[in-house]
Amino acid sequence: MRPLPRLFLTASVAILAPLPSALAWSQPHQAITRAALERLPAAQKALLGEELALLGDDYCLIPDHVFTDRANAKFAMVDDKPKEIYRLNLHLPAQQPENLETIRYFLGKAVAAAQSQNIKDAARYMGTICHQIEDYGSPSHTMPGDNMFTLLQQFLPPSEVMRDKLLHSPVESGELTVAIPDYTPKLLGTTVNEAAWKLMHRIHEGIINARSTTIPIIQALYIEDAKTVERHQLKAATFDAKIVADALYTILCIGTRTPADLEESPEGIALKNTPIAAYYPLEAASLYFPQTQFFSSPHWGHARSGVVLAEGKQALPLKLQVDSKTGPKEQEFSEGISAGMGRSLTFLLPAGVYSRFTVLAGLHSELGAKGKVEFTLSGDGKPLATAVVSGTEPAHALECDLSGVSELQLTLNSKGGDSKSNYAIWANPTLQKP
Ligand SMILES: [Zn+2]
Repeated sequence: MRPLPRLFLTASVAILAPLPSALAWSQPHQAITRAALERLPAAQKALLGEELALLGDDYCLIPDHVFTDRANAKFAMVDDKPKEIYRLNLHLPAQQPENLETIRYFLGKAVAAAQSQNIKDAARYMGTICHQIEDYGSPSHTMPGDNMFTLLQQFLPPSEVMRDKLLHSPVESGELTVAIPDYTPKLLGTTVNEAAWKLMHRIHEGIINARSTTIPIIQALYIEDAKTVERHQLKAATFDAKIVADALYTILCIGTRTPADLEESPEGIALKNTPIAAYYPLEAASLYFPQTQFFSSPHWGHARSGVVLAEGKQALPLKLQVDSKTGPKEQEFSEGISAGMGRSLTFLLPAGVYSRFTVLAGLHSELGAKGKVEFTLSGDGKPLATAVVSGTEPAHALECDLSGVSELQLTLNSKGGDSKSNYAIWANPTLQKP
């Protein structure tokens, strides 16, 4: 156990900085961005040329340097909001619609610059996107509304060594060496709208991963265990580097290749169908289910991805009776959502990307035998498809047209069976491109 001189130094520097509440990990920004850049295909590295090193050294910090680096500040600003020099949403997550709009805006700017072969501007906008991904996935940006952990410290009272110190900077500051040597960046979309939306969901994974590191880091800081602090910081940084690699790769793909070329590539074809069972609905505000979103039937609980909870206690695989050539048979699903009565799950959709939604709606083949449930799909509040399914029937294949739909809602209501048996499952919920 060694003292942590660097952490304390960073903490005291942060007090003098203009906006310490949102300044995130400095050196780790560079370490994460460089690790991601390292994994780009050779042709993309060549295209970036001398901008490649600058992206890792400097551009990934543009949103933190808007008051000192005036020349590059515009790359972290929105054209129609000239007075908003410091855009908080580039550092701290808000809710999905605002996050998506910010991601879409800067991703669009980076792609447009790359398309017009302005690599200098493209790289600077890419730096802003790197920063946003890295800040959202930073261990000290994980508590909604408690960026300085003043609430969390009431749950985890500080040790003598950390008493009266703000935790934000110590939680994330360090000198990290990040590498993702075996990672192949993934294409997130063939258009800006699709890529931004997919990137948002990818960033959600980064936020959840970072949340798992925050308390271990704080506990290690309390006992001055620098090694453990760094181990958990690296867990967050390594995950973030993969998301940054996906984002940069995707921007350069969309910016340099035709939509048709991308659509027909194996990666483009793989994006035709998108399962959404693991995505967070809007009801899981800040990526957790608040108590107001709980249901009381078939048990007291909240929606789950991939499992059904028998009596709210025991996780079981998702199983439905489905039609087959030889009659109804039981099938297990890895992709699906179990949910309760009287509640909806709402998914924000990217504009103009998906044309259809398909799902199998039914009651769990063992737990739901005596239940009867109405399954409804709505688009922007308008019902698009509905089915009443009883526990003895096979699951219904529901589908709807998504033209012009920006919010897809899945709703369940009891239809008079045994309410304790209403174990409803949305299996294989999938968005389809034309
Ligand atoms: Zn920041």
